[in-house]
Amino acid sequence: MNLSKTVTKKLYIRGIVQGVGFRPTVYSYAHKYGVEGWVRNTSNGVEILASGSESAVDGFIQHLRDTPPRLAKVDSFLVEQAEQGMHSGFVILDSQPMEGEFLPISPDLSICPDCLRELYDPTDRRYRYPFINCTNCGPRFTIIKDIPYDRPKTTMADFQMCQDCESEYHDPLDRRFHAQPVACHLCGPQIWFETAGTIKSRGEDAIQESRAAIQSGKIVAVKGLGGYLLACDAANGATVETLRARKQRSQKPFALMASSLEIITRHCFVSNEEELALLSPEAPIVLLQKKPGCALPGGIAPGQQSLGFMLPYTPLHHLLLEKRTGYPEILVMTSGNRSEEPIAYTDDEARQNLETLADGFLMHNREINIRTDDSVVRFFRGGIYPIRRARGLVPSPVRIPFSVAPILGVGAELKNTITVAREDYAFISHHIGDLENLETSESFTQAIPHFKQLFRVHPKLISCDLHPDYRSSRYAEERACSENIPLVKVQHHHAHLAACLADNKWDSEEPVIGVCFDGTGLGTDGAIWGGEFLLGGYASFTREYHLAYTPLPGGDAAISKPSRSALAHLWKAGISWDEDMAPVQATSVQEKTLILQQLQKMINAPPTSSIGRLFDAVSSLLGICHLTTYEGQAAIDLENAISLVDDREGYGFDFHADQIDVSQMLREIVADIRKDVQVSRISCKFHHTLARVVLTAAQKIKSKTGISTVALSGGVWQNMHLLEGTINLLESNGFEVLWHHQVPANDGSISLGQIMVASAITQKG
Ligand code: ZN
Ligand code: ZN
Ligand code: FE
Repeated sequence: MNLSKTVTKKLYIRGIVQGVGFRPTVYSYAHKYGVEGWVRNTSNGVEILASGSESAVDGFIQHLRDTPPRLAKVDSFLVEQAEQGMHSGFVILDSQPMEGEFLPISPDLSICPDCLRELYDPTDRRYRYPFINCTNCGPRFTIIKDIPYDRPKTTMADFQMCQDCESEYHDPLDRRFHAQPVACHLCGPQIWFETAGTIKSRGEDAIQESRAAIQSGKIVAVKGLGGYLLACDAANGATVETLRARKQRSQKPFALMASSLEIITRHCFVSNEEELALLSPEAPIVLLQKKPGCALPGGIAPGQQSLGFMLPYTPLHHLLLEKRTGYPEILVMTSGNRSEEPIAYTDDEARQNLETLADGFLMHNREINIRTDDSVVRFFRGGIYPIRRARGLVPSPVRIPFSVAPILGVGAELKNTITVAREDYAFISHHIGDLENLETSESFTQAIPHFKQLFRVHPKLISCDLHPDYRSSRYAEERACSENIPLVKVQHHHAHLAACLADNKWDSEEPVIGVCFDGTGLGTDGAIWGGEFLLGGYASFTREYHLAYTPLPGGDAAISKPSRSALAHLWKAGISWDEDMAPVQATSVQEKTLILQQLQKMINAPPTSSIGRLFDAVSSLLGICHLTTYEGQAAIDLENAISLVDDREGYGFDFHADQIDVSQMLREIVADIRKDVQVSRISCKFHHTLARVVLTAAQKIKSKTGISTVALSGGVWQNMHLLEGTINLLESNGFEVLWHHQVPANDGSISLGQIMVASAITQKG
C-alpha cells in the first residue's frame, strides 16, 4: 500500500505522435513508474490518463517529456488535473476519432536498425522479407487513405495478419505493437519479377533475378514506396547512356543509391551533417560535391560538380544492393517515367509507360496510395536547403507564424505543390510536378481532396497565382465559383517572399527586402517578372527595383532557347550581333531575321525582368548552352563552369530610377570573351556582379527605410555560388539575411506563400 498521496492527471500530446510507437512507449513508461490509467489515439493526438503516487506520476510525465519515441515530433504537451477514478493497471484504449479534428501524419520512414538486423538474421522469421517494418520504420504517407492511422485505412487493409504477426501487433511491449503495415513472409505483400507481362520468378528468386539482370547491364523498374524507380548499374557507362536514350533525357542528372555510406565517400565529400541526413529516417537524396578523380561515368550527371546520392531506404533496396563480389555497389535510381511525365506508381501504369524503358520489372502487391518522388536536399552552412520536398519529408507540416482560417493554396504551374492549412499548421504536399503534363495535372486534382480529407481542412478561402493560364489558377477559379468560396490571387514573387518569411517563422508586421530572383512569374503590370526587389511582408508589397525589361522574343518558347535571350539582351544593350558571338552562330539567318522583327516591333516579345533569362543570355554568350533540355539547365551549366572561386572582380551596372541596367556588364563580358578570358572566370565575375547588384539595391532601400533584413527566394537561389556570395556580401555589410530551410526556394514553395498572403490580406481586412 502506497501511503503517499494519489494523484490523477490527464495529458494531451499533439504533433507527429501516431505511427511512431508512441503508445507502446507510454505503456512501458507507465509500467516502469507503476502508473495506472490508459492511453489512446485521438484524431488530434494522444491522450493519457495517469494515476498513482505523486512522485510516480510526475516521474512518468517528466520521463515522457524528456524521452519521447525517437520519431515523434511533439508540438504541444498539456497536463491537467483529472478526476480520481478506478484504474487497475495501465491499458491501451481503442482510437477515438473526433469530428473535424486533425493531426499530422508521419512521413514514410527508412528501415530502422532493428529491422535491418532481423532482415539478415537467418533465425528470424522475417529473414530476407522485403517488407519488414515496425513502429519505428516503414511506409506511412504513401499507404494512408484516411485518418486515424489504422490498418483498415491503409493499402494494407487487404492483408490478413497471421497469428504471429497478430500477437506482435497486440503486444504493447513488442516493437510491432500497432505497427499498421506489420507483415511477414506468410501473411504480407509478396514480390515477383516479370518481363513483358509474364512472371518469371517470385520471392527471393525475384530479387536474385533482378540483381543478375542489373549486373548484366539491364535496366529494371523497381516498385518502391512512392512509385517505380528505374535501376541500373551506375558503373556501367553504356547502360547509363541506354537509360538516357530510352528516357529521352539527355542531360538532367540521375540520382544514385549506394549500398553504404563508405561507398559514397569514395566518390563524394560528405560532411557530418550530410552523413546524418543520408542515414536519417527521411533518407533523402543529398546533393554532394564530387571528389576530384571520381571514376563514375560522366553520363550520370553531365557537367555537374555534384552527385545526388541516397542510401537504401526500404528492405527491398537493401536486398537489391546486398554486398557480393562482382555485383554493383551503386545503382542509378531515377524516377520511372519518360522525360516530363510523372513517376509511374500503379502496376498497370508501370507496365504501360515503362515497357520501352525497362528490361524487367521487380513488382509487389502492396498498393501505393499516392505517387511520391524521392526528396532532394542540399546542405548550406550546415543546414538543410531543400530542393524537392517529397518522400520522407511530406506530409510533416510547416508550423506557420500565425493562425489561419482553413485555406487552400494551389501553387504554381511548374514544380507544383499544393498547401492546405488550418490554425498554425501548413500541410504542404509532396512535389507534384509540371502541370502542363496531363498525368501530373491529374495528380494535382487528386492531391487536393486527399490533403483536405487527411487533415480535415474545409477551405473557407482559396489562393492561386495571378497568372490566369496556370492550370492551378484555372482549377482555383472553378472551385471558388462552384463552391462559392472567396479567391485571392497572389502575385508570384510576393508568394515567394511570403514563403521565405514563413519558412523563417517571421512573425512580425515589419516589412523586409525581398530579393526574388526567378525564371518567370506574371507581374502586376502584365510583364514577366523575375528580377525583383520587393519591400513588404505577408499582407502587401511595393516593387522597389527590378532588372530593366528586355523583350523576350517568342515568349514562353524562348525559355528553352537561351540563344534567344542572349540576342535579346545584346539588342537591348545596343550591342551588335557580330558573327564571332556564340549565340549569333547558333542562330540561323531566318531565325535572326524573325527575332529582330519581334524585338523591333514588340510582336510576341513580352517584356521580362527575369534573372533566369539573364543567366540564359550569359550562358549562351559563353557558348555553354544555347538549347536547354530541362528547366534551368543553362544557369546550372553556367554555375558549374566555375572552377576557381574569386569574388573580387565584377562587371559594371547602373541604376536608372527603379530599373537595373546591366548593359555595361554585357559589353564587358563580350570584351572578356574577345580577350579569351577563361569561361570559368567570366562566369565567376558574372555571379559576383549579381551579388553586388543585390547589395547595392538593398543599401538603397535601407537608406530610404532603415530596413536591413533581406529575404532570398525564387528558383535562381538554388545557385549555390550566387547564394553564398550574396549572403556573405550582405552580411559583411550589416544586413540580416533570410533564406530557405524547410521548403525549396523554387516554385515548390509558392503554395505556402499563397496561403500566407491570402490569409494575411483577409484577416487584416
Ligand atoms: Zn523497424
Ligand atoms: Zn505474418
Ligand atoms: Fe518562381
